Amino acid sequence: MNEVLLIKAGELVLKGLNRRTFEDQLLKNLRRALRPLGPWQYHWSQSTLQAIPGAPSVNMAAAAEKTGKVFGIAGYSRALRLPKDMTTLLAAAPSYLSDALRFARTFKCEAKRSDKRFPLRSPQICEEMGEVLCNAFPHLRVDVRQPDVTIHIEIRDQYAFLHAGQLRGAGGLPVGTAGEAVLLISGGIDSPVAAWMMARRGLRLTAVHFASPPYTSPRAEEKVHKLLAAVAGYAGRVRLFVVPFTAFQEQIRERCPEDLFTLVMRRAMMRIAEQIALRENCGALITGESLGQVASQTLQALACTNSALTLPVFRPLVGMDKNETIEIARKIETFEISVLPYEDCCTVFTPRHPRTKPKLSMLTQAEQSLDWDILLADALKGAQFLSIEAEGVQPCKRES
Ligand code: ATP
Ligand code: MG
Repeated sequence: MNEVLLIKAGELVLKGLNRRTFEDQLLKNLRRALRPLGPWQYHWSQSTLQAIPGAPSVNMAAAAEKTGKVFGIAGYSRALRLPKDMTTLLAAAPSYLSDALRFARTFKCEAKRSDKRFPLRSPQICEEMGEVLCNAFPHLRVDVRQPDVTIHIEIRDQYAFLHAGQLRGAGGLPVGTAGEAVLLISGGIDSPVAAWMMARRGLRLTAVHFASPPYTSPRAEEKVHKLLAAVAGYAGRVRLFVVPFTAFQEQIRERCPEDLFTLVMRRAMMRIAEQIALRENCGALITGESLGQVASQTLQALACTNSALTLPVFRPLVGMDKNETIEIARKIETFEISVLPYEDCCTVFTPRHPRTKPKLSMLTQAEQSLDWDILLADALKGAQFLSIEAEGVQPCKRES
């Protein structure tokens, strides 16, 4: 059986002169996603990308699932590729479509004939196919208004394709077409969702996680690996820097006013992340902050965090309710991992009464008591570097 994936590009079809760059990146990302499943060939034609398995052993259900996570794709279908000959199409249809039609009650056929030299016109193609399917599945009725299943027959430039409908793709733009950004990832629900949202707009991700052993455990770090592996199913490979943060937190606790602990700590995190971003050629920071969610996410607090930085900060959840975030977290399968109960460094040394309307001058004054340069240099020097893919985690050497 000659089954292929037919893939329709999404928003990138709106691009003008640089459309080619977007198509190339989409193809590169798809290749990378499907490579572990076996050999593939790819072919762009009439704004549809065909992914053709190079061996009969390739698991097409797994391939379809992976394709559904590649950003830049509006829709995709598993389709049978056949010579452009009506007799062959009619002979192949009943067994290929039996899974889709066995439990349906009604169906219709839709034909698209982009090769106008094909001897039959679309209504005739549908009529002949409908008759063959009604004979093969006597329980089926034709319903052209609201069918359970629509059978598509596409007569294209080189081949004919037969399929039982298109699945919705992940949308957005191909990862890598919008540049690269540093994601601050905790073990919570919000930051993996923020990662998914920004990768969907074409950003490649480099992640930074702050760990404070012994206050935080190795299992909290493993949780971050698992979250990023789930994100990598969509975003492709994600590099991760695990930054030791204990010394910073202890010094903040010793030397700063208690009501400012969290904010001083957050400004420190963002500045360290910015240093990594600048070194790694990343153009922005991404966080899972949402306006008003906690004391460090009030308007005044976010303004104080931003004023420690020069790079833009993307906060895609800023206007979202928690239940909307949870809905996405469930969809991208990070929710169950996020709710595992391991301590994050943000919840270590939390003040009893955090300040919700901080003034920048209070923070800059508190920060003067810190050995900033030493702490920053140690944190950067102690960072561990890993590479995370959907399939697992690899320790890495620094690339630059
Ligand atoms: P949740 O709010 O679901 O518990 P969260 O990840 O949003 O999880 P917050 O305490 O709200 O946790 O933190 C706000 C943001 O700060 C996070 O979304 C994340 O971007 C960043 N952050 C928090 N803790 C860490 C950490 N240990 N390492 C890196 N970034 C962190
Ligand atoms: Mg949060």
